[in-house]
Amino acid sequence: MENIKELKTLLSIPRDIVITSHRNPDGDAIGSSLAVYHYLIRQGHTVDVIFPSEYPDNFAWMPDADKILIHDIEPEDANRVLKKAEIIFALDYNALERVDKMGEVIAPLTCKKVLIDHHLYPENFADFVLSDTTASSTCELIYDFLEMMEDKKGIDVTVGECMMTGILTDTGSFKYSTSPKLFKIVAELLERGVDDYLLQDVIFNSVTEKQLRILGHVLHNRMEILPEYKTGIFTLTKKDYESFNIQRGDTEGIVNYLLMMKNVKVAVFIHEQPKIVKISMRSKGDFSVQEICRKHFRGGGHKNASGGASYSGLSATVNKFKRLLPEYAEQLAAL
Ligand code: 5GP
Ligand code: MN
Repeated sequence: MENIKELKTLLSIPRDIVITSHRNPDGDAIGSSLAVYHYLIRQGHTVDVIFPSEYPDNFAWMPDADKILIHDIEPEDANRVLKKAEIIFALDYNALERVDKMGEVIAPLTCKKVLIDHHLYPENFADFVLSDTTASSTCELIYDFLEMMEDKKGIDVTVGECMMTGILTDTGSFKYSTSPKLFKIVAELLERGVDDYLLQDVIFNSVTEKQLRILGHVLHNRMEILPEYKTGIFTLTKKDYESFNIQRGDTEGIVNYLLMMKNVKVAVFIHEQPKIVKISMRSKGDFSVQEICRKHFRGGGHKNASGGASYSGLSATVNKFKRLLPEYAEQLAAL
């Protein structure tokens, strides 16, 4: 962020600030948002956090999570708050379409916008940009941001716990996107009193019986392995959604189970929601699922973790994906 001095000046007096993050907020979205929220509140600013849609229950313990405004639920209130903001933070997303209808409200606003994110190909809509696609998480970048603000002392236990939440969830508890820099940051968070063991427990050991049964169903009945393409596919039908009463968040993380097979390098989860078919992809090593999601499923994300959508029904979407595979056969064989 070359113009960090300008941002520092802007933040040197109390401001009306709104923090936003992406639809279906994950641990990094809520972690980075609440980390910045608590930091700015302590600096004397007036701060609101607005998400397009609800966050999963396993983040409800986070300090002030209950104050987050959900645009889907309270659109008028959320829009009113957005319109009076002097500064809007856009955290953990790279394009205004990732915040749906909120994006249409934010785009024309003339207030200052700050983007902090680690997704590929950031859109050019913010005045201040801290984008690093090599970062494990937006929460890791919040550390860089506070360092740039020359305010690392702003990382108290609360801010640190929020940052640690995004780091733990976006790295799958340090399984991917790690770096020496990340471990140094984590060491510092522990020194400041963050209890990593407790956080792992509240975040990850929180699945419901229903979620475990959905996982069992998917593993037993809805899994297809394509060994020739080192690819695994999970599906869930509209009927599955009804019979298991699947809610948003219930299928979080399921796609990763496919990667537990040694010879599966690409994992795909295709699930039929009421209006769209949602696609989640994960990969191991030098294979970009971001490219597939961007080119063929109106989506994007990261090289090894991306998502998208399709409007053509479940089996048509599965077939469309399978037809793409021969194009990548050589690349997959080399993995
Ligand atoms: P998930 O599969 O967990 O929903 O998402 C994995 C990654 O892909 C996340 O980093 C998320 O931001 C990104 N992603 C998921 N769905 C979409 C989408 O529809 N569009 C774009 N651009 N990115 C997505
Ligand atoms: Mn993230």
